[in-house]
Amino acid sequence: MGTKTTKSKKEIPVAAAGASVKDGKSLEARLSRMLRLPSEEEADRLFNLAKGRGLAKGQLVLLVETILQEQNKIVFGKKIIEGDLQTHQDDRMDEADQASSDNHQGMTMRMANRENFKLKRLQRALDKVYDGSFGECEGCGVDIGFARLSARPIADLCIVCKEEEERKENLSAVGRKPKSMGQTLGSKLSVG
Ligand SMILES: [Zn+2]
Repeated sequence: MGTKTTKSKKEIPVAAAGASVKDGKSLEARLSRMLRLPSEEEADRLFNLAKGRGLAKGQLVLLVETILQEQNKIVFGKKIIEGDLQTHQDDRMDEADQASSDNHQGMTMRMANRENFKLKRLQRALDKVYDGSFGECEGCGVDIGFARLSARPIADLCIVCKEEEERKENLSAVGRKPKSMGQTLGSKLSVG
């Protein structure tokens, strides 16, 4: 087995993605393609805006890629959910079926609402890439930073402002019912 590896050693695997991150020109091309920009000069303009927020070209490309992937994932999932709702409405069902279906539909509706909310956030993040405010904390104006954005590209607060916001939320939540499990789980999932 070990002898075979020498032959394929020369072939550079898909890790070439890392290589193109260093290649400035292809990054302009990639951003143009992903955002359907009219020209690579436009990509260059967006790179300069991002640089002002402490984001290197390769980092912006990665973040835009992540945002678009998440959008696609949701849009694809939505089609399945909508198809699901459709079949359940068309089916003729007895009462028990109807009840479980209502339950099921309630759940799919809640899921759809959460997905729609996430889609809006993702679109907003893209809008910010276009206008150059992507990566800027809406609370205090500092750079959010690549580390936080790569974990959560829709973040619009820096970690300090976010923690402050959560602290206030927790304070105002005292005496009220605790946050729903779904919400907590949802925000944890989107971070990871
Ligand atoms: Zn902040």
